Amino acid sequence: MPKDVYTMADLRDWPAAAAGEPLRLSVFGDPVKHSRSPQMHDAALAAAGIAAKYVRLHIQPAELSEALRLLPVQGFIGTNVTIPHKAATLALMDEVDPAALRAGGVNTVVVHGEKLVGYSTDGPGLARAIQDEFGADLRDLRVMILGAGGGAGRAIAVQCATERCRRLMLVNRTYERALALAEEIMPDGPVEAVPWNEKALDSRLQGIDLIINATPLGMSGPSESPIPASMLRPDQMVYDTVYTAHRTPLLAAADEAGAHAANGLSMLLHQGALSFEIWFNQPAPIEAMRKALEAGKSSAD
Ligand code: NAP
Repeated sequence: MPKDVYTMADLRDWPAAAAGEPLRLSVFGDPVKHSRSPQMHDAALAAAGIAAKYVRLHIQPAELSEALRLLPVQGFIGTNVTIPHKAATLALMDEVDPAALRAGGVNTVVVHGEKLVGYSTDGPGLARAIQDEFGADLRDLRVMILGAGGGAGRAIAVQCATERCRRLMLVNRTYERALALAEEIMPDGPVEAVPWNEKALDSRLQGIDLIINATPLGMSGPSESPIPASMLRPDQMVYDTVYTAHRTPLLAAADEAGAHAANGLSMLLHQGALSFEIWFNQPAPIEAMRKALEAGKSSAD
C-alpha cells in the first residue's frame, strides 16, 4: 500500500520508497495531506487499465526545483502541482503551454524524455464545471470573480477572457491586483476591476449572471458570507471553488436567496480529467473519477 504522503527524501530514493509499486504520478504541495487528487486519479487509472499509481508528495518551496528535475530520473509520467507551487513551477519548465503562460501558473507537468512541459487545467476545468453544474457557457455570461488576484482567480479570469464572456467584474481585497489583471487580460474589453466593499458590489451585482468565489473564504468552518443573501437573486448562479463537506457561507446565502449554487468539487473533477487527458492522450474515465470523489465527500473538511 502506498503511504499517505511522501517527502523529498523519499523522492531522492524513489525505488526504495515505492517498494515495487508503480508510483508514477503525484501531486506536489505544501501542505498536501488533504489533497483528494489521489483517490480521483487512482480510480481513473484503474478504470483505464493503466498500471500506475498517483501519490501525494510534500514538497517545500526550496525543494521544488530539485523535485521537478527528479521526475524524469525516477520514471514519472508527470505530476500535478498545487498551493503554493503553481507560479514557481511555470518558471522551471522547459516548455510551457501558451494557456498556462496566460494563466500565470502550471498545475500539470508532463515528462517528455528529459524535458518538462507545463500546462494549466484550472481555467478550462472551471469552464467545464460551469457547464456541468448549470448547463451554461462562460461566453454567454456576465461574470463576477471574487479573489481575482490570486492564482485560481487569475486562471478563471483568463478563461473568461479567452471565451469572451459578455462582461467580467474582477473583485479583489487588494484592489490594485484586480486592476492590473483587468488591464492585462482584456485591455479594451468589457472588464472592470471593482473594489471589495458592499456598496460597489451591490451596484455591480444587478448586471451579473454568475458569481465565482476564488478566495479561501468559507474553507474553515463558520464565517460570514462574502456576499449576503439580500444581494443575490434567484436567477443568479453562484459557484464556490472551495469544496468542503459543509455548505460554505456563500453557498448558504445563495440557497437562502433561491439562487443556483454549486461547490468546487466539479472544478476539481474537471481539472483532474483534463490533466489525465494531457498525460495519456485519451479521454478520462470521468464517471469513475466523479464516483471516487463523491465517495470521499464526507471527509472533505
Ligand atoms: P492564492 O493565490 O493564495 O489567492 C488567494 C486569493 O484570495 C487572493 O485573491 C486574496 O486576495 C484572496 N483572499 C485571501 N484571504 C482573503 C480574505 N480574508 N478576504 C478576502 N480575500 C481574501 O490562492 P489560490 O491558489 O488562488 O486558491 C484560492 C482558493 O481557490 C483555494 O482556497 C481553493 O479553495 C480554491 N481552489 C479550488 C480549486 C478547485 O479545483 N476547486 C482549484 C484551485 C483553487 P489578496 O490579493 O488581497 O491577497
